[in-house]
Amino acid sequence: MNVTTLTTLKAQYDAYILPTYARRDAAFARGVGCRLYDVDGKEYIDMSSGIGVNSVGYAHPDWVAAVAAQAGTLAHASNLFYTEPAARLAERLCALSGMAGAFFANSGAEANEGVFKVARKYSESKYGAGRATIATLTGSFHGRTLTTLAATGQGKFHRQFNPLTPGFLHIPPGDIDALHALPGDVCAVMLEPVQGEGGVWPLEAGYVKQVEALCRERDWLLLCDEVQTGIGRTGHWFGFQGLGITPDALSFAKGIAGGLPMGGFLVGEGLRGVLTPGDHAATFGGSPLCCAAALATLDILEGALPTVLQKGEAIRARIEAMGLPNVAGTRGRGLMIGVSVTGGEPSDWNDKLLEAGLVALTAGTDALRFLPPLIIGEGDIEAALAIFEKVMRGGSTQ
Ligand SMILES: *Cc1c(COP(=O)(O)O)cnc(C)c1O
Repeated sequence: MNVTTLTTLKAQYDAYILPTYARRDAAFARGVGCRLYDVDGKEYIDMSSGIGVNSVGYAHPDWVAAVAAQAGTLAHASNLFYTEPAARLAERLCALSGMAGAFFANSGAEANEGVFKVARKYSESKYGAGRATIATLTGSFHGRTLTTLAATGQGKFHRQFNPLTPGFLHIPPGDIDALHALPGDVCAVMLEPVQGEGGVWPLEAGYVKQVEALCRERDWLLLCDEVQTGIGRTGHWFGFQGLGITPDALSFAKGIAGGLPMGGFLVGEGLRGVLTPGDHAATFGGSPLCCAAALATLDILEGALPTVLQKGEAIRARIEAMGLPNVAGTRGRGLMIGVSVTGGEPSDWNDKLLEAGLVALTAGTDALRFLPPLIIGEGDIEAALAIFEKVMRGGSTQ
């Protein structure tokens, strides 16, 4: 009999899966609510949501029922035809965001690629060729395709993959002079309302408003990458809604379908007509299965959303109040939380947390990152923070 253990899985991965990830020492077998179980039956509290994906936790009965029903009805139909779940989801997302039209894709990078195409076509149609540069922020993360890498404002991801797609440049967040100094061939500015992979750095509302004002003045499109901040993560359906701005287009992915692979973008009224038949496509985009999963996810999140801000603030306040020796501070918005740690690498602290039964993430150079399922309840928060406190009091990782 073949018994699956972490050791046997590691050997199979080593033999057959390319080593593109620094994988951590747990092999998950199943999950329920905010708890995960590994192949040995050990229980973990999840404060990661599989990197912001499982926002309704694991095996939520309403989500499971919706996915199972749709799988048994119609999982996929090509985009050469009409299906009901896509129509309902697009209408719902437009209502939640104030946007005017949706395109469905499969991942965050693919969603951003589509947004860049909209921006470039808009600009070329209006101003002619040569005004196609897209500005993004230093420390940003926009994906791993060659174009979204070019957009990503972190050099460490670029090395050895050149040449990247031309037409991107990076300016430091908060730097108004750099914004004003952008060259004449810029057509759009993209930003994450809270920089996620870069370290959980919320952008200042004042700065973002100035970006918006200059975008209006110079007819640059304002693009929000809401792949991590979207779908309730920051306490609003979309992060921009907490900043008092209105983007021309936004991308979403991670949390949208509660665990199924889905991404997409939304555009405002002014960009509705930019893409026309033949301009853009995705074979799997907007499948009935993923759209049904997304509709169920939004239904579940409707109940959780009003509590997200308060839960995030409570978690941060409790961590700060612990007065922990190796915690330098917290930052974030809603249930997107960064905890700056000292006395060891964030990844070493994170390994200790995992061993103690808490699944968390790291971000940037100094932080642990918590992206718990948005449905997380008081009991699981208590339990997670108890593990966190115990590990952080246990002494440095060095
Ligand atoms: C994760 C992430 C992406 C990339 O999404 P993928 O689905 O991995 O392609 C892009 N932008 C942001 C802000 C992200 O957090």
